[in-house]
Amino acid sequence: MNPVEFQKWLAQVDDLTTYQRQRALDALSDPDPKRANHEIIEERIADERRCPRCSAPGATLNGMADGLQRYRCKPCDRTFNALTGTSMARLRKKEKWLEYSESLKEGETIAKAAERCNVDPTTAFRWRHRFLKAFVEDKSTKLSGIAEADETFFLESFKGQRKLPRPARKRGGKASKPGLSVEQIPVLIARDRNGETFDVVLKGIDAKNLGDALKPIIGKDTLLCTDGSKAFKAMAKEAGIPHQALNIKAGVRVKEKIFHIQNVNAYDSRLKGWMRRFNGVATRYLDSYLGWRRFFECHKDEVHNPKSWLIEAIGPVPK
Ligand SMILES: [Zn+2]
Repeated sequence: MNPVEFQKWLAQVDDLTTYQRQRALDALSDPDPKRANHEIIEERIADERRCPRCSAPGATLNGMADGLQRYRCKPCDRTFNALTGTSMARLRKKEKWLEYSESLKEGETIAKAAERCNVDPTTAFRWRHRFLKAFVEDKSTKLSGIAEADETFFLESFKGQRKLPRPARKRGGKASKPGLSVEQIPVLIARDRNGETFDVVLKGIDAKNLGDALKPIIGKDTLLCTDGSKAFKAMAKEAGIPHQALNIKAGVRVKEKIFHIQNVNAYDSRLKGWMRRFNGVATRYLDSYLGWRRFFECHKDEVHNPKSWLIEAIGPVPK
């Protein structure tokens, strides 16, 4: 943390509640990583003790189970812990989760993650997708100002599936037909100039599919820039979205200095470059990888701290 950021951070100490102050003191005085893991997990429930099922606050303490505080909710008379209702519930070896978060932060392959945490590769694999579940959901829900959208393609892959719907291709291989074919999975990426980022795996790149994805996230006064494909044009017209179509094929990359899709294209090339290490990802997990990468891009202040990754994986406090 740079000195200015630290000053700002320290200034917020005044606003802590008594409970938060105590938690901060505990965290500063105890460098034990095992405890750090548990504290991060328990913090999700914190002093509100809100029930993940009925949302009532103020649950009572009800002993310990699996190393976690158990709570009992009076209104619904059910017990829960800090992980109930999350994708991380009932995963074992919590003491290694922070180390695993470090591995996510480093963007490691399954083999490297397994080695780092000294767990079986099948465990590392299971953890990856459980950890990343919350990342899948964490995407921008509104783009404003000038937004850029473009589609990109990933080779379809049945990696890890025993029964292949069609003959296997060489790992990380090339599509048998050039350009768009049934073997290419389309992904829509949209970003505004504030870095708000949305992406989604599409069923097709026709106007209907683009519209279903984009209409809910394009704000009222948002102007959309695209490469001007027929599908984007038709979608924008139908949805009444102000649209600047670049004619990339004709070499028109920027209009009036501000209308372009260079941010979204740069994002795509960083995504592709980063994905290369995985040697092709299974299509059914593509959205996990998109979420993983998005976290790097959209949480720049936090990505260096493995704790931020664990907090993200555990997901938000129940509301
Ligand atoms: Zn309840």
